[in-house]
Amino acid sequence: MNLIMFGPPGAGKGTQAKLLQQTYKIKQLSTGDMLRGEVAAQTDLGRRISDIMDDGGLVPDELIIELIADCIAQPECKRGFILDGFPRTLPQAEALNEMLTQKGQKIDHVLALEVVEDDLVERVKKRAGETAIARSDDNEETLRRRLSVYHEQTAPVLPYYEAAGLLRKIDGMQSVEAVTAQIETILNKSAAA
Ligand code: ADP
Repeated sequence: MNLIMFGPPGAGKGTQAKLLQQTYKIKQLSTGDMLRGEVAAQTDLGRRISDIMDDGGLVPDELIIELIADCIAQPECKRGFILDGFPRTLPQAEALNEMLTQKGQKIDHVLALEVVEDDLVERVKKRAGETAIARSDDNEETLRRRLSVYHEQTAPVLPYYEAAGLLRKIDGMQSVEAVTAQIETILNKSAAA
């Protein structure tokens, strides 16, 4: 089973993706975590992208597409994967479709977390206070930039998946457990069908 977790920054994609990874034994692929790993390890790539990330912008499509293509070819993705933070632009969604089609694979569901944006700022501030290693992009100003990037470049991906019949809308304003329950209902229903 191959899934996409979709939603604005701070919507809870990573939290849900981690839980799904455990429950369904499919691999979470968080592009944000991967890129932060590159920055922390001070690789060439990390040096190229750290300013972009700190500003709340998107790293170039080609770069992220290559990263994901490498990941989904790994044996740990054989049972399936959950994309968390990808695709974030229409060209990324199209490239994903192409790479999966070539491998005879497909996306089963796009789980879109719907949230009230005014509450996201508070959530992200809370996350910044709780995480051991502070994220350099979890401040109010950058979050506002990330939200506007989301609206301009990422939200247009939704109609693409809606047209493909893959979009599943989830109420992301409930508790973590209640959001998980909504997702599991959708996945279990389609597995039974
Ligand atoms: P959030 O979902 O909270 O915004 P992520 O951890 O998914 O945070 O991403 C953090 C940053 O990493 C983004 O603001 C962006 O700079 C970069 N990034 C992550 N995924 C992508 C992607 N698919 N395309 C381009 N940039 C990305």
